[in-house]
Amino acid sequence: MAQIIIVGAGLSGAVIARTLAEASHTVHVIEARPNVAGNCHTARDPETGVLVHAYGPHIFHTGDDDVWAYVNRFTDFEPYRHRVLTTVGDQVFAMPIHLSTINQFFGTDMTEAEAKAFIATKADKTILEPANFEEQALAFIGVELYEAFFKGYTTKQWGCDPRALPAEILKRLPLRFSDDDSYFAHPHQGLPRHGYTPMVEAILAHENIKVSLNTPYDAALHKGDHLFYSGPLDGYFDHSLGRLGYRTLDFENFTQDGDFQSIPVMNYGDVDVPFTRITEHKHFAPWESHAQTLCSREFSRECGDNDIPYYPIRLVQEKALLSDYVALANAQSNVSFVGRLATYRYIDMDVCIREALDLAEVFVKTGSAPVFSAAPL
Ligand code: UDP
Repeated sequence: MAQIIIVGAGLSGAVIARTLAEASHTVHVIEARPNVAGNCHTARDPETGVLVHAYGPHIFHTGDDDVWAYVNRFTDFEPYRHRVLTTVGDQVFAMPIHLSTINQFFGTDMTEAEAKAFIATKADKTILEPANFEEQALAFIGVELYEAFFKGYTTKQWGCDPRALPAEILKRLPLRFSDDDSYFAHPHQGLPRHGYTPMVEAILAHENIKVSLNTPYDAALHKGDHLFYSGPLDGYFDHSLGRLGYRTLDFENFTQDGDFQSIPVMNYGDVDVPFTRITEHKHFAPWESHAQTLCSREFSRECGDNDIPYYPIRLVQEKALLSDYVALANAQSNVSFVGRLATYRYIDMDVCIREALDLAEVFVKTGSAPVFSAAPL
Protein backbone atom coordinates (compact mmCIF):
# COMPACT_ATOMS: atom_id res chain seq x y z
CA MET A 1 0.00 0.00 0.00
CA ALA A 2 1.19 3.50 -0.84
CA GLN A 3 2.60 6.08 1.57
CA ILE A 4 0.71 9.25 0.78
CA ILE A 5 1.66 12.82 1.73
CA ILE A 6 -1.09 15.43 1.71
CA VAL A 7 -0.24 19.09 2.07
CA GLY A 8 -3.08 21.01 3.68
CA ALA A 9 -5.88 19.85 6.00
CA GLY A 10 -8.65 21.82 4.32
CA LEU A 11 -11.60 20.13 2.67
CA SER A 12 -9.67 18.84 -0.35
CA GLY A 13 -6.84 17.37 1.72
CA ALA A 14 -9.15 15.83 4.33
CA VAL A 15 -11.45 14.18 1.80
CA ILE A 16 -8.57 12.70 -0.19
CA ALA A 17 -6.95 11.50 3.03
CA ARG A 18 -10.12 9.76 4.13
CA THR A 19 -10.80 8.05 0.81
CA LEU A 20 -7.23 6.75 0.58
CA ALA A 21 -7.14 5.70 4.23
CA GLU A 22 -10.33 3.71 3.76
CA ALA A 23 -8.60 1.96 0.86
CA SER A 24 -5.82 0.95 3.30
CA HIS A 25 -3.20 3.47 2.18
CA THR A 26 -1.12 5.20 4.84
CA VAL A 27 -1.65 8.93 4.83
CA HIS A 28 0.30 11.75 6.43
CA VAL A 29 -1.43 15.15 6.35
CA ILE A 30 0.84 18.14 6.86
CA GLU A 31 -0.79 21.38 7.92
CA ALA A 32 1.02 24.65 8.55
CA ARG A 33 -1.71 26.12 10.74
CA PRO A 34 -2.57 25.08 14.31
CA ASN A 35 -5.97 23.77 13.21
CA VAL A 36 -7.58 21.77 10.41
CA ALA A 37 -10.35 22.95 8.05
CA GLY A 38 -8.39 25.57 6.10
CA ASN A 39 -10.40 28.69 5.42
CA CYS A 40 -13.68 27.17 6.55
CA HIS A 41 -12.27 26.90 10.09
CA THR A 42 -14.78 27.75 12.81
CA ALA A 43 -14.00 28.48 16.46
CA ARG A 44 -16.01 29.49 19.49
CA ASP A 45 -15.24 33.00 20.71
CA PRO A 46 -14.32 32.67 24.42
CA GLU A 47 -15.87 36.01 25.41
CA THR A 48 -19.31 35.78 23.79
CA GLY A 49 -19.57 32.02 23.20
CA VAL A 50 -20.50 32.69 19.57
CA LEU A 51 -19.35 30.22 16.92
CA VAL A 52 -17.21 32.28 14.54
CA HIS A 53 -16.48 31.63 10.86
CA ALA A 54 -12.87 32.66 11.38
CA TYR A 55 -12.07 33.23 7.69
CA GLY A 56 -15.37 34.76 6.64
CA PRO A 57 -18.84 33.36 6.01
CA HIS A 58 -19.03 29.80 4.67
CA ILE A 59 -22.46 28.43 3.81
CA PHE A 60 -22.70 24.86 2.64
CA HIS A 61 -24.86 24.51 -0.47
CA THR A 62 -24.82 21.89 -3.18
CA GLY A 63 -26.81 20.26 -5.92
CA ASP A 64 -24.68 17.13 -5.63
CA ASP A 65 -26.54 14.40 -3.72
CA ASP A 66 -23.36 12.37 -3.15
CA VAL A 67 -21.49 15.32 -1.68
CA TRP A 68 -24.44 16.14 0.57
CA ALA A 69 -24.58 12.53 1.79
CA TYR A 70 -20.81 12.58 2.29
CA VAL A 71 -20.71 15.62 4.59
CA ASN A 72 -23.73 14.35 6.52
CA ARG A 73 -21.77 11.18 7.28
CA PHE A 74 -19.40 13.21 9.44
CA THR A 75 -21.58 15.78 11.18
CA ASP A 76 -25.16 16.91 11.77
CA PHE A 77 -26.29 19.71 9.50
CA GLU A 78 -28.95 22.20 10.52
CA PRO A 79 -31.30 23.49 7.81
CA TYR A 80 -30.39 27.02 6.79
CA ARG A 81 -31.39 29.34 3.92
CA HIS A 82 -28.87 32.07 3.24
CA ARG A 83 -30.25 35.57 2.67
CA VAL A 84 -28.13 38.66 2.10
CA LEU A 85 -28.94 42.36 2.23
CA THR A 86 -26.85 45.11 0.71
CA THR A 87 -26.58 48.75 1.71
CA VAL A 88 -26.30 51.13 -1.24
CA GLY A 89 -26.49 54.85 -0.50
CA ASP A 90 -29.06 55.24 2.26
CA GLN A 91 -31.13 52.23 1.26
CA VAL A 92 -31.02 48.53 2.04
CA PHE A 93 -31.85 46.06 -0.75
CA ALA A 94 -32.12 42.29 -0.92
CA MET A 95 -29.47 40.38 -2.87
CA PRO A 96 -29.16 38.67 -5.26
CA ILE A 97 -31.04 40.92 -7.65
CA HIS A 98 -34.63 39.66 -7.89
CA LEU A 99 -38.13 41.12 -8.20
CA SER A 100 -38.15 43.10 -4.94
CA THR A 101 -34.65 44.52 -5.59
CA ILE A 102 -35.68 45.66 -9.08
CA ASN A 103 -38.96 47.23 -7.92
CA GLN A 104 -37.35 48.98 -4.96
CA PHE A 105 -34.45 50.28 -7.03
CA PHE A 106 -36.52 51.62 -9.92
CA GLY A 107 -39.48 52.68 -7.71
CA THR A 108 -41.83 50.40 -9.64
CA ASP A 109 -44.43 47.77 -8.85
CA MET A 110 -43.81 45.37 -11.71
CA THR A 111 -44.88 41.76 -11.99
CA GLU A 112 -42.35 39.06 -12.75
CA ALA A 113 -43.06 39.20 -16.50
CA GLU A 114 -42.95 43.01 -16.56
CA ALA A 115 -39.65 43.08 -14.68
CA LYS A 116 -38.15 40.60 -17.10
CA ALA A 117 -39.18 42.68 -20.10
CA PHE A 118 -37.99 45.85 -18.36
CA ILE A 119 -34.52 44.49 -17.57
CA ALA A 120 -34.26 43.26 -21.18
CA THR A 121 -34.56 46.91 -22.25
CA LYS A 122 -31.72 47.81 -19.84
CA ALA A 123 -29.34 45.01 -20.88
CA ASP A 124 -26.68 46.01 -23.40
CA LYS A 125 -27.48 43.88 -26.44
CA THR A 126 -24.37 44.95 -28.33
CA ILE A 127 -22.25 42.77 -26.02
CA LEU A 128 -22.60 39.32 -27.52
CA GLU A 129 -19.68 37.58 -25.85
CA PRO A 130 -18.82 39.33 -22.57
CA ALA A 131 -15.03 39.36 -22.21
CA ASN A 132 -14.87 40.55 -18.60
CA PHE A 133 -16.88 41.15 -15.41
CA GLU A 134 -18.18 44.57 -16.44
CA GLU A 135 -19.31 43.46 -19.89
CA GLN A 136 -21.02 40.46 -18.35
CA ALA A 137 -22.91 42.76 -15.96
CA LEU A 138 -23.88 45.28 -18.63
CA ALA A 139 -25.11 42.52 -20.92
CA PHE A 140 -27.02 40.97 -18.04
CA ILE A 141 -28.64 43.81 -16.08
CA GLY A 142 -27.63 47.14 -17.62
CA VAL A 143 -25.64 50.04 -16.31
CA GLU A 144 -27.79 51.31 -13.39
CA LEU A 145 -28.01 48.04 -11.46
CA TYR A 146 -24.38 47.25 -12.29
CA GLU A 147 -23.13 50.55 -10.91
CA ALA A 148 -25.25 50.34 -7.75
CA PHE A 149 -24.75 46.72 -6.74
CA PHE A 150 -21.61 45.40 -8.42
CA LYS A 151 -19.17 48.07 -9.49
CA GLY A 152 -18.24 49.42 -6.05
CA TYR A 153 -18.36 46.08 -4.21
CA THR A 154 -16.32 44.34 -6.90
CA THR A 155 -13.72 47.11 -7.06
CA LYS A 156 -13.25 46.80 -3.27
CA GLN A 157 -13.29 43.02 -3.23
CA TRP A 158 -10.86 42.48 -6.09
CA GLY A 159 -8.81 45.71 -5.94
CA CYS A 160 -8.97 46.35 -9.65
CA ASP A 161 -11.19 47.64 -12.40
CA PRO A 162 -14.00 45.12 -13.03
CA ARG A 163 -12.97 45.21 -16.71
CA ALA A 164 -9.78 43.35 -15.73
CA LEU A 165 -11.72 40.51 -14.07
CA PRO A 166 -13.11 37.38 -15.70
CA ALA A 167 -16.84 37.29 -16.51
CA GLU A 168 -17.22 34.02 -14.53
CA ILE A 169 -17.14 35.83 -11.16
CA LEU A 170 -20.49 37.47 -11.87
CA LYS A 171 -22.01 34.19 -12.98
CA ARG A 172 -21.81 33.01 -9.35
CA LEU A 173 -24.81 35.22 -8.60
CA PRO A 174 -28.24 34.54 -10.08
CA LEU A 175 -30.56 37.16 -11.55
CA ARG A 176 -34.16 36.29 -10.75
CA PHE A 177 -37.46 37.88 -11.62
CA SER A 178 -39.41 35.96 -8.98
CA ASP A 179 -39.88 36.75 -5.28
CA ASP A 180 -37.28 34.17 -4.24
CA ASP A 181 -34.63 35.98 -2.21
CA SER A 182 -32.43 32.95 -1.40
CA TYR A 183 -28.78 33.68 -2.06
CA PHE A 184 -28.23 30.14 -3.36
CA ALA A 185 -30.44 28.05 -5.59
CA HIS A 186 -29.08 24.62 -4.62
CA PRO A 187 -31.49 22.03 -3.20
CA HIS A 188 -29.20 21.13 -0.29
CA GLN A 189 -28.23 23.94 2.08
CA GLY A 190 -27.20 23.83 5.68
CA LEU A 191 -24.65 24.59 8.34
CA PRO A 192 -22.83 22.02 10.43
CA ARG A 193 -24.33 22.21 13.92
CA HIS A 194 -20.95 22.41 15.67
CA GLY A 195 -19.05 24.20 12.90
CA TYR A 196 -16.82 23.05 10.07
CA THR A 197 -13.73 22.28 12.12
CA PRO A 198 -15.29 19.33 14.00
CA MET A 199 -16.60 18.06 10.66
CA VAL A 200 -13.12 18.10 9.11
CA GLU A 201 -11.66 16.55 12.27
CA ALA A 202 -14.20 13.74 11.91
CA ILE A 203 -13.23 13.21 8.26
CA LEU A 204 -9.58 12.94 9.32
CA ALA A 205 -10.27 10.63 12.28
CA HIS A 206 -9.08 7.34 10.81
CA GLU A 207 -6.39 4.95 11.99
CA ASN A 208 -4.49 5.22 8.69
CA ILE A 209 -4.30 9.02 8.84
CA LYS A 210 -1.68 10.95 10.77
CA VAL A 211 -2.10 14.74 10.95
CA SER A 212 0.83 17.05 11.77
CA LEU A 213 -0.35 20.56 12.66
CA ASN A 214 1.98 23.60 12.83
CA THR A 215 4.10 21.90 10.17
CA PRO A 216 4.98 23.86 7.03
CA TYR A 217 5.58 21.61 4.04
CA ASP A 218 9.23 20.85 3.30
CA ALA A 219 9.84 18.80 0.15
CA ALA A 220 13.12 17.47 1.58
CA LEU A 221 11.46 16.09 4.73
CA HIS A 222 8.14 14.83 3.50
CA LYS A 223 8.69 11.98 1.11
CA GLY A 224 6.03 9.57 -0.02
CA ASP A 225 4.84 7.60 -3.05
CA HIS A 226 2.41 10.32 -4.07
CA LEU A 227 1.90 13.91 -2.96
CA PHE A 228 -1.45 15.71 -2.97
CA TYR A 229 -0.77 19.42 -2.67
CA SER A 230 -3.49 21.93 -1.79
CA GLY A 231 -1.39 25.06 -1.19
CA PRO A 232 -1.04 27.91 -3.71
CA LEU A 233 0.16 26.68 -7.12
CA ASP A 234 2.92 29.31 -7.47
CA GLY A 235 4.08 28.64 -3.87
CA TYR A 236 4.85 25.02 -4.76
CA PHE A 237 7.40 26.30 -7.27
CA ASP A 238 8.80 28.97 -4.89
CA HIS A 239 7.20 31.63 -7.11
CA SER A 240 10.03 31.01 -9.58
CA LEU A 241 8.08 32.43 -12.53
CA GLY A 242 6.52 35.30 -10.57
CA ARG A 243 3.47 35.66 -8.36
CA LEU A 244 -0.07 34.73 -9.19
CA GLY A 245 -2.46 37.24 -7.67
CA TYR A 246 -4.60 36.30 -4.68
CA ARG A 247 -6.76 38.48 -2.44
CA THR A 248 -6.53 38.22 1.31
CA LEU A 249 -9.01 39.46 3.91
CA ASP A 250 -8.67 41.41 7.16
CA PHE A 251 -11.41 41.20 9.77
CA GLU A 252 -12.16 43.93 12.25
CA ASN A 253 -14.21 42.29 14.99
CA PHE A 254 -16.52 44.03 17.42
CA THR A 255 -18.95 42.83 20.06
CA GLN A 256 -21.99 44.36 21.68
CA ASP A 257 -24.96 43.30 23.76
CA GLY A 258 -27.96 41.89 21.96
CA ASP A 259 -28.12 42.10 18.21
CA PHE A 260 -26.37 44.27 15.62
CA GLN A 261 -28.03 43.79 12.22
CA SER A 262 -30.51 40.88 12.69
CA ILE A 263 -29.12 39.05 9.68
CA PRO A 264 -25.91 37.12 9.06
CA VAL A 265 -24.47 39.19 6.21
CA MET A 266 -24.88 42.82 5.15
CA ASN A 267 -22.98 43.81 1.99
CA TYR A 268 -21.90 47.39 1.35
CA GLY A 269 -22.05 48.30 -2.32
CA ASP A 270 -20.62 51.82 -2.12
CA VAL A 271 -16.96 52.18 -2.99
CA ASP A 272 -16.39 54.84 -0.32
CA VAL A 273 -17.34 52.43 2.50
CA PRO A 274 -13.97 50.72 2.94
CA PHE A 275 -15.23 47.26 3.92
CA THR A 276 -17.19 44.88 1.67
CA ARG A 277 -19.52 43.31 4.22
CA ILE A 278 -20.32 42.81 7.90
CA THR A 279 -20.93 39.29 9.16
CA GLU A 280 -22.87 38.76 12.39
CA HIS A 281 -21.80 35.26 13.26
CA LYS A 282 -24.50 34.19 15.71
CA HIS A 283 -27.11 34.28 12.94
CA PHE A 284 -25.31 31.32 11.36
CA ALA A 285 -26.41 29.33 14.42
CA PRO A 286 -30.00 30.43 15.06
CA TRP A 287 -30.52 27.31 17.20
CA GLU A 288 -28.14 28.81 19.78
CA SER A 289 -28.85 31.78 22.01
CA HIS A 290 -26.27 34.35 23.13
CA ALA A 291 -26.63 37.52 25.17
CA GLN A 292 -23.88 39.22 23.21
CA THR A 293 -23.08 39.35 19.54
CA LEU A 294 -19.82 39.26 17.59
CA CYS A 295 -19.52 40.89 14.16
CA SER A 296 -16.71 41.12 11.62
CA ARG A 297 -16.15 43.95 9.20
CA GLU A 298 -14.43 42.42 6.18
CA PHE A 299 -11.72 44.28 4.27
CA SER A 300 -10.13 42.86 1.14
CA ARG A 301 -6.60 43.59 -0.03
CA GLU A 302 -3.77 42.20 -2.14
CA CYS A 303 -2.24 39.09 -0.61
CA GLY A 304 1.37 39.71 0.49
CA ASP A 305 4.12 37.14 1.12
CA ASN A 306 3.04 36.41 4.70
CA ASP A 307 -0.72 36.66 4.27
CA ILE A 308 -3.29 33.92 3.93
CA PRO A 309 -4.54 33.63 0.34
CA TYR A 310 -8.33 33.46 -0.03
CA TYR A 311 -9.34 34.27 -3.58
CA PRO A 312 -7.40 33.57 -6.82
CA ILE A 313 -7.86 36.75 -8.85
CA ARG A 314 -7.44 35.31 -12.35
CA LEU A 315 -6.98 38.67 -14.02
CA VAL A 316 -7.64 38.49 -17.72
CA GLN A 317 -3.96 39.33 -18.38
CA GLU A 318 -2.73 36.79 -15.80
CA LYS A 319 -3.60 33.76 -17.90
CA ALA A 320 -0.13 33.55 -19.51
CA LEU A 321 1.65 33.20 -16.14
CA LEU A 322 -0.91 30.67 -14.99
CA SER A 323 -0.38 28.70 -18.16
CA ASP A 324 3.40 28.63 -17.50
CA TYR A 325 2.81 27.28 -13.99
CA VAL A 326 0.42 24.67 -15.35
CA ALA A 327 3.17 23.55 -17.76
CA LEU A 328 5.63 23.26 -14.85
CA ALA A 329 3.10 21.26 -12.86
CA ASN A 330 2.38 18.95 -15.76
CA ALA A 331 6.09 18.09 -15.90
CA GLN A 332 6.02 16.75 -12.30
CA SER A 333 5.54 13.14 -11.44
CA ASN A 334 3.65 11.65 -8.51
CA VAL A 335 2.15 15.02 -7.54
CA SER A 336 -1.47 16.14 -7.76
CA PHE A 337 -2.62 19.74 -7.28
CA VAL A 338 -6.02 19.95 -5.63
CA GLY A 339 -8.55 22.50 -4.42
CA ARG A 340 -9.04 26.24 -4.68
CA LEU A 341 -5.45 27.42 -4.22
CA ALA A 342 -3.56 24.75 -6.12
CA THR A 343 -5.85 24.75 -9.14
CA TYR A 344 -6.14 28.55 -8.86
CA ARG A 345 -9.91 28.55 -9.27
CA TYR A 346 -12.69 30.32 -7.35
CA ILE A 347 -14.60 27.21 -6.32
CA ASP A 348 -17.04 26.48 -3.52
CA MET A 349 -16.76 23.89 -0.77
CA ASP A 350 -18.99 21.33 -2.46
CA VAL A 351 -16.95 21.48 -5.67
CA CYS A 352 -13.73 20.96 -3.67
CA ILE A 353 -15.25 17.86 -2.10
CA ARG A 354 -16.58 16.49 -5.40
CA GLU A 355 -13.21 16.93 -7.13
CA ALA A 356 -11.33 15.48 -4.16
CA LEU A 357 -13.58 12.41 -4.07
CA ASP A 358 -13.17 11.86 -7.81
CA LEU A 359 -9.40 12.27 -7.78
CA ALA A 360 -8.93 10.00 -4.78
CA GLU A 361 -11.13 7.39 -6.43
CA VAL A 362 -8.86 7.39 -9.49
CA PHE A 363 -5.88 6.81 -7.19
CA VAL A 364 -7.64 3.96 -5.41
CA LYS A 365 -8.44 2.28 -8.73
CA THR A 366 -5.18 2.87 -10.63
CA GLY A 367 -2.46 3.61 -8.07
CA SER A 368 -1.84 7.05 -9.55
CA ALA A 369 -3.72 10.30 -10.05
CA PRO A 370 -3.81 13.13 -12.60
CA VAL A 371 -1.70 16.25 -12.01
CA PHE A 372 -4.75 18.48 -11.48
CA SER A 373 -8.05 17.68 -9.79
CA ALA A 374 -9.54 19.99 -12.44
CA ALA A 375 -7.92 22.03 -15.21
CA PRO A 376 -6.92 25.52 -14.00
CA LEU A 377 -7.40 27.09 -17.43
N1 UDP B 1 -20.71 40.87 -5.80
C1 UDP B 1 -20.99 42.21 -5.88
N2 UDP B 1 -21.90 42.76 -5.02
C2 UDP B 1 -22.51 42.03 -4.05
C3 UDP B 1 -22.23 40.66 -3.96
C4 UDP B 1 -21.30 40.11 -4.84
O1 UDP B 1 -20.41 42.93 -6.71
O2 UDP B 1 -23.33 42.60 -3.30
C5 UDP B 1 -19.73 40.29 -6.76
C6 UDP B 1 -18.30 40.48 -6.25
O3 UDP B 1 -17.43 40.64 -7.35
C7 UDP B 1 -18.06 39.17 -5.54
C8 UDP B 1 -18.77 38.17 -6.46
O4 UDP B 1 -19.93 38.90 -6.89
O5 UDP B 1 -16.68 38.89 -5.40
C9 UDP B 1 -19.16 36.86 -5.84
O6 UDP B 1 -19.96 37.09 -4.69
P1 UDP B 1 -20.09 35.99 -3.54
O7 UDP B 1 -21.15 36.47 -2.60
O8 UDP B 1 -20.27 34.66 -4.17
O9 UDP B 1 -18.66 36.10 -2.84
P2 UDP B 1 -17.95 35.25 -1.66
O10 UDP B 1 -18.97 35.02 -0.58
O11 UDP B 1 -17.42 33.99 -2.29
O12 UDP B 1 -16.86 36.18 -1.23
